[in-house]
Amino acid sequence: MQQYFIDLEDKYGAHNYHPIPVVLSRGKGVHVWDVDGKPYFDFLSGYSAVNQGHCHPVIIEALIEQAQKLTLTSRAFYNDQLGEYEKYITQYFGYDKVLPMNTGVEAVETAIKLARRWGYMKKGISENKAKIIVCAHNFHGRTSTVISFSTDPSSYEKFGPYMPGFTVVPYNDLPALQKALEDPNVCGFLVEPIQGEAGVVVPDEGYLAQAKAYCAYANALFIADEIQTGLCRTGKLLACDHEQVRPDILILGKALSGGTMPVSAVLADDAVMLTIKPGEHGSTYGGNPLASHIAIASLKVLKDEDMARNAAKMGDLFRKMLVALDHPNIREIRGKGLLNAIEIEHPDKDAAWHFCMELMKNGLLAKPTHGDKIRFAPPLIITEAQIGESVDIIRKSLSVIS
Ligand code: PLP
Repeated sequence: MQQYFIDLEDKYGAHNYHPIPVVLSRGKGVHVWDVDGKPYFDFLSGYSAVNQGHCHPVIIEALIEQAQKLTLTSRAFYNDQLGEYEKYITQYFGYDKVLPMNTGVEAVETAIKLARRWGYMKKGISENKAKIIVCAHNFHGRTSTVISFSTDPSSYEKFGPYMPGFTVVPYNDLPALQKALEDPNVCGFLVEPIQGEAGVVVPDEGYLAQAKAYCAYANALFIADEIQTGLCRTGKLLACDHEQVRPDILILGKALSGGTMPVSAVLADDAVMLTIKPGEHGSTYGGNPLASHIAIASLKVLKDEDMARNAAKMGDLFRKMLVALDHPNIREIRGKGLLNAIEIEHPDKDAAWHFCMELMKNGLLAKPTHGDKIRFAPPLIITEAQIGESVDIIRKSLSVIS
């Protein structure tokens, strides 16, 4: 049965992904089911889009309710949902304004445009000279501008020519950042508070706070891409909250819709946001009434169910239980809240893949990134008992690479 669907995708779909061979047809909470009815723990959560759990009833209810009324107006007209959402999300995160988009990378593009515009209009950078500092091993999405400053050949190779205006510094390297900020044409520093796609790379404590301070000193914007780390994933509402850092531009996506549709957002204060005027940026679907209604519900359940607290507590427990396995083929266990990864040490370079196949067989879904790293990021509603069951599956599956 599963092979039929796999063959369909293989024959008719572009080969730009290499999925784990499981075909899913249902999801509820921390679980997904394949087409044969077998349940799995979902330890990827749609790359953190499903923080609230699959098909959260409050989010689905909001979706159905709004879908029956009005889904899209375009921004040529006002609608009765967008303003309510804008008020809700700006008060929720404490910013003057929001600019709504759809996918994560669109929000990153928006932040880049905003930072450049601010650089020209407020900082006085000469036309076309603005630079944005980014970090090595970043992942901010797949558009041609964003891959222009990727350091991962599989992201950028043979997709040139590349967009200029980006300076790459090593991640977690404050002296390098401080030096790069000496360039008066720098308008911003774009950073992931934890590098998710790079394999859950957690910077040293104090890195974000000091980076923000350096940016303030250099009159450059601190731009946090919290698309993967935000919305309670790391045990706080934002990963920047661990260091009481307030980004000048905050980028959100993924779980802003609880996994129901692409909803992203850029938040900033007026001094930045109002540098873009009518007709200068936008998106047909951005801020549509359906997305607006769903986003309010998605944000509400994060708070109502105190998901940050559960993520912090379950994350601590999970890492502790993984450490207790004391397995010789696990080189490192790292993470914050429920954004975690392990690194596999094994002479077979495909060991992490074989391990994930065994996890699948035993009822847990995860996928390697960059060969030897495996991200473990279940929905934030996971319980202590479910963490226990999951670690049992992980322990059992490790035998395949022992
Ligand atoms: N930024 C970060 C930190 C991400 O993790 C991702 C996706 O994984 C993106 C941006 C891109 O988001 P999207 O795939 O919705 O365009």
